[in-house]
Amino acid sequence: MNTKGSEALLERAQRIIPGGVNSPVRAFRSVGGTPRFIERGEGCRIYDVDGNAYIDYVGSWGPLILGHRFGPVMEAIRSVLEVGTSFGAPTEREIELAEEIRAAVPSMEMVRLVNSGTEATMSALRVARGFTGRALTVKFEGCYHGHVDSLLVKAGSGMATLGIADTAGVPAGFAETTLALPYNSVEALEASFGSHGDQIAAVIVEPVVGNMGCVPPQPGYLQAMRELCTKHSALLIFDEVMTGFRVSFGGAQELYGIKPDLSTFGKVIGGGLPIGAYGGRADVMSHVAPSGNIYQAGTLSGNPLAVSAGLAMLRHLRAHPEVYRQISSAAERICAAAPEGVTANRVGSMFTYFFGSGPVKDWETAKVADTARFKSFFHHMLELGVYLPPSQFEAAFVGAAHDEEAVETTVDAIRAWKG
Ligand SMILES: *Cc1c(COP(=O)(O)O)cnc(C)c1O
Repeated sequence: MNTKGSEALLERAQRIIPGGVNSPVRAFRSVGGTPRFIERGEGCRIYDVDGNAYIDYVGSWGPLILGHRFGPVMEAIRSVLEVGTSFGAPTEREIELAEEIRAAVPSMEMVRLVNSGTEATMSALRVARGFTGRALTVKFEGCYHGHVDSLLVKAGSGMATLGIADTAGVPAGFAETTLALPYNSVEALEASFGSHGDQIAAVIVEPVVGNMGCVPPQPGYLQAMRELCTKHSALLIFDEVMTGFRVSFGGAQELYGIKPDLSTFGKVIGGGLPIGAYGGRADVMSHVAPSGNIYQAGTLSGNPLAVSAGLAMLRHLRAHPEVYRQISSAAERICAAAPEGVTANRVGSMFTYFFGSGPVKDWETAKVADTARFKSFFHHMLELGVYLPPSQFEAAFVGAAHDEEAVETTVDAIRAWKG
């Protein structure tokens, strides 16, 4: 496979952009080789600058549930170009997107739009602290909630991929406001509430973890979390930036029947443009400025391009619930083809092949995966034109544009691996 064009661009990029990339995992550091510089995407495929085509299971890390250049989303963006790209004043479509989110996710009684998932979790946390008057946050090892200072503690995603235990640049005082517990352990959560119950403002969780690879909640776990938060008057925050409108239209909270106090969204709700949202209980959200004294703002928040793209995406998904069955069953077929000595974890259209044979239920059991075998598999697939996340600790995504032929090609490529 010719990658000369990507190699040249990487060299040039590295001279001006740290590591040559604008988000760490894109650099292929843990798998080695040349990160592909992408020229364009269409449906389930991306094309690099050397003209190589790949079936794309990254999907911009989650947003592109309907594939690249999805017609109605492109149309919505085009219509905004006719009227202006940013006003810094309220527009009707922002209400429409908020109403669309609330209709799908009833716990989102009030919604505030921001520009990224990171902004959403950062803001939700501030609201939880402002509302409860408490300082501590509980998070879980291997979960990633964006690059918020106090949440980069035992975080998954790029930090797990690069083996960075604790990032530099976060003062101890910030990190000390975070209690990091093992995921899927009710006992650990009980113990934490036992010792700090009256100081915990919020528990923030990826209800289905995507950022240490895909790790589902064990039966009863989220329910127990809900009960403990209620008992100790801490707010439960579901970080659905990845799972929202992905594992089902109403997100993980619909799938598991749990009502969090606050939730965060991003990725799918922007249709491939930068966006985030946080919201939840009206009695909590009404404390956000200008109705209340918890401050949060954004010059480009509610940006017309992002809001219109997201609206087109959500409206299509609402009108086509069969999409979720289709993408789940495609992911199921891919997981069924997992080679021996691989644990395939999947929830809906999110999945990860963990290169180890035991069950993976938390960071302890995820981190023992054989990353050398993963690397061999990753490059085998890439050579055959299948683009998986370049990390053992990231989830892959199937979208509605992955047709029969693409899934078949993928399964054949998996079966051809001699690792
Ligand atoms: C991607 C992600 C974020 C961060 O969103 P950005 O838009 O990258 O800032 C936060 N939480 C979860 C669960 C995510 O998957």
